[in-house]
Amino acid sequence: LIELHEVNKHFGELHVLQDINLTVGRGEVVVVIGPSGSGKSTLCRAINRLEPIESGTIRLDGQLLPDEGKPLARLRAEVGMVFQSFNLFAHKTVLQNVSLGQVKVRGRRKDEADRRSRELLDRVGLASQAPKYPAQLSGGQQQRVAIARALAMDPKVMLFDEPTSALDPEMINEVLEVMQQLAREGMTMVVVTHEMGFARSAANRVVFMADGRIVEDRSPEEFFTDPRSDRAKDFLSKIL
Ligand code: ATP
Ligand code: MG
Repeated sequence: LIELHEVNKHFGELHVLQDINLTVGRGEVVVVIGPSGSGKSTLCRAINRLEPIESGTIRLDGQLLPDEGKPLARLRAEVGMVFQSFNLFAHKTVLQNVSLGQVKVRGRRKDEADRRSRELLDRVGLASQAPKYPAQLSGGQQQRVAIARALAMDPKVMLFDEPTSALDPEMINEVLEVMQQLAREGMTMVVVTHEMGFARSAANRVVFMADGRIVEDRSPEEFFTDPRSDRAKDFLSKIL
């Protein structure tokens, strides 16, 4: 479903993505881990076209990105993205947050969008929070709204960039549970996370990045029990 071929990108002198080759099949869950500054966020942003690349190709469902024929907003709607900071609209209610993009980008009628929003809010356990404003919710609840909002666009793939890193420990699980559920339902997901429990239980593959390169791309069992590279061994010894 996602195919990156020989993708390269620099920030000035820094070669932040180096010959990245990565394929994510439909329904696959790929967890991306690696030290700070290794290029994980840049990789996600490149897939979502928030970040232009210099060479190589990125295909989504066979279509080449950037696809000049398609409006960027439509393209981004196909790639749902959830960030560390929840990025909700502070002056809109929870329901409006989830409905807005459906009307603006997907062209749904407002009542249709609201119906779909309520369904999704129910799915993430927040049906009763629809009339509230983001500031009235906990961090974990806000992040679940952000997930519902991304899902409302009917994305082909969901990208998560450290979705639980900004959360208090007691709220991490409620967000991970929603993500586990999505994975079980067959959503294609790319997840940057330091939650190794999630990687072990939900991931089909673990991709380990260091210095802008993919150093390992293996099953979680193999990666955690027998990391091949010194970089991965060193990284695992620090976080496990
Ligand atoms: P972290 O675990 O800290 O989130 P990361 O693996 O997500 O790290 P990136 O955010 O992709 O790393 O950044 C990779 C490198 O590129 C870092 O050295 C960072 O400082 C640099 N970088 C990121 N964005 C920019 C930018 N817009 N301009 C210049 N340098 C950038
Ligand atoms: Mg990052």
